[in-house]
Amino acid sequence: MMVVMTPEATQAEIDAVVAKLEARGVHAKVMPGELTTAIGAIGDPEGVRELGLEGLAGVDQVIPISRPYKLASSELSHHEPTAFDVDGRRVGARDTFCLIAGPCTVETPDQTRTVARAVAAAGASMLRGGAFKPRTSPFSFQGLGYQGLEILAEVRAETGLPLVSELTSAQHADRFAEVVDVVQVGARNMQNYGLLEVVGKLDKPVLLKRGLSSTLDELLMAADYVLKEGNERVVLCERGIRTFETAMRFTLDVGAVPWLKLHTHLPVIVDPSHATGDRRLVGPLARAAAAAGADGIIVEVHDDPEAALCDGPHQIYAKDFRAFAAEVAAHARLLGKRLA
Ligand code: PEP
Ligand code: MN
Repeated sequence: MMVVMTPEATQAEIDAVVAKLEARGVHAKVMPGELTTAIGAIGDPEGVRELGLEGLAGVDQVIPISRPYKLASSELSHHEPTAFDVDGRRVGARDTFCLIAGPCTVETPDQTRTVARAVAAAGASMLRGGAFKPRTSPFSFQGLGYQGLEILAEVRAETGLPLVSELTSAQHADRFAEVVDVVQVGARNMQNYGLLEVVGKLDKPVLLKRGLSSTLDELLMAADYVLKEGNERVVLCERGIRTFETAMRFTLDVGAVPWLKLHTHLPVIVDPSHATGDRRLVGPLARAAAAAGADGIIVEVHDDPEAALCDGPHQIYAKDFRAFAAEVAAHARLLGKRLA
């Protein structure tokens, strides 16, 4: 439910509404607007109705939030986008585009450094790199683990690029919080609700990928798990879904971008790499994402993809990244967005 206060409502009246909600175990989110303050009351709607909030001083009306996702809903944000900084790089603002690039997985210090330098020189705002890899087979390369995190930390110190890396298990959360700037939750863990609550408490921005077979409603309800812990810095990522089409690794749902921009206030980025599994298609889909209004992309880049330990066929050559980035940036500019 949403409690809309009158324009004249005092702070004490707002506090009284929040206290009443919280006493009933309802999560209250106060959203000051230009004219009025609204309070999102996230909990059992019947319970909220029974509180009789309409009768309280300063309350104008109590209206239902009609969508199944609550905190992620644009209904709750007065349609203002959520934007935040990651070490000075703006994410989610109407006029910025965020280019996250790097290897699928950290393999060696040299490989990570070479790729990081190439993407930094071409305007990337953050470095991606997996240390713990969620592989479909337990016999595939699983990543370097903590050693990979150490390499990432060294490269961050050298290049200044903030780090995005995937957390696959809550047991690594504290170490991640020390090293990475954005904690990625992978497609396979989108509905790992325990992990979502852990990253919700980490005080780090979260990059939440859409599950392989998840609907957009399910993605936004997964985001609610992070948001309800008080972490409002969540970036959503469309990364391709399972459909009847098998020509590509997944089917990139480009329509998800404008749909999400309508239905949520959270930033939306696209991963054109895992969506296709073929580097020849990554450029066109990255450009499509930018032209569709995405707030950024996350793309895999390797200095020697033929020798990559994971996802070689779709990683872009580091030497081609500058031209790739320039074309994507040109498409983002069509919508008034510049590289962050
Ligand atoms: C990744 O980005 O490294 C990854 C494994 O992606 P996804 O979770 O989308 O498959
Ligand atoms: Mn990969």
